[in-house]
Amino acid sequence: MKKYSFSSIFTEAFRDNLGWEKAWAKRKPKNEYEIIIVGAGGHGLATAYYLAKNYNVTDIAVIEKGWIGGGNTGRNTTIIRSNYLQESSISIYEKSRFLYETLSQDLNYNIMFSPRGVLMLCQTEHELRAMKRTSHANRINGVDTKMVTPDEVKEIVPIINIEGPRFPVLGALWQPRGGTARHDAVAWGYARRCSDYGIDIIEQCEVVGVKKKREKIVGLETTKGQIKAKKVCFVAAGHSSVLAELAGFRLPIESVALQALVSEPIKPIIDCVVMANTVHGYLSQSDKGELVIGGGADGYNNYSQDSKHSFKLCDS
Ligand SMILES: Cc1cc2nc3c(=O)[nH]c(=O)nc-3n(C[C@H](O)[C@H](O)[C@H](O)COP(=O)(O)OP(=O)(O)OC[C@H]3O[C@@H](n4cnc5c(N)ncnc54)[C@H](O)[C@@H]3O)c2cc1C
Repeated sequence: MKKYSFSSIFTEAFRDNLGWEKAWAKRKPKNEYEIIIVGAGGHGLATAYYLAKNYNVTDIAVIEKGWIGGGNTGRNTTIIRSNYLQESSISIYEKSRFLYETLSQDLNYNIMFSPRGVLMLCQTEHELRAMKRTSHANRINGVDTKMVTPDEVKEIVPIINIEGPRFPVLGALWQPRGGTARHDAVAWGYARRCSDYGIDIIEQCEVVGVKKKREKIVGLETTKGQIKAKKVCFVAAGHSSVLAELAGFRLPIESVALQALVSEPIKPIIDCVVMANTVHGYLSQSDKGELVIGGGADGYNNYSQDSKHSFKLCDS
């Protein structure tokens, strides 16, 4: 596949951009694969990509019932951070955050990684103590975070009202190399590289059944027919439990919807990510100017992708 580079963009500019290939090929499923990955979100596509890149396994199909990145991957608030408390969480999130630093170069695709900093506000004494503990845990594990005072918060985000209106800001945990990336570009970048490795990405193909022989999974029933596989990988986020049930086992997970909203574009007002756990809201501004605002998870199990009454404040 032609590399995106200064010279290729320059050359294409002089021939009406007619020389570009499709970023990924639309393929029909083959009869059999070594590995089928169900779910073409960021994780499914990344699984396929690193199998090819690090282990030379390319006889892979990534099967998606909708479109690439159409699940959670293209619907989130795009925050990248690794300021967690537990050692195991810190390690996996920091490894991921670190990969983001060079992911655009690795994928040869601009994922618009923006390490603009993540500020987690402390608005109660309890939260302040907990964040200090997190900050120490981060530093012990080599993650660059620090506690900042209310005045420093004001310096980082001048628009913030540190006196209230509901809870005062008592301090914050600051991760300067946290930030955001364009979420669907992450999926597109992985998809393009997967396609380049000869991996089949099959959209509009839902897995509706699992074929088993003597308790071993040997293939899948899909809306595009039966496909055999030596190994099957369910990477379908909340729907992994639905797929597991098709395969005859239960996953110890529960699925709930998490909601977010995006405003109309406005002038730049905030250039980092601000998270406020006490009121459970978090905010950043997209490059286009939209405010990207996240809320809390629904208090009951569901698989919905619709926005609910509790989050329709903007309607009124
Ligand atoms: C509102 C919201 C805000 C969030 N904010 C953040 C954030 O700021 N930072 C962060 O790191 N994370 C955030 N997350 C979480 C993050 O989006 C997810 O962890 C991540 O996108 C999961 O990626 P995935 O590839 O595992 O799943 P998905 O992107 O959901 O991909 C799974 C795919 O599987 C497909 N699928 C399901 N069933 C089948 C089937 N039977 N057959 C074929 N295909 C199937 C789906 O269509 C889907 O495309 C947020 C999530 C939400 C909902």
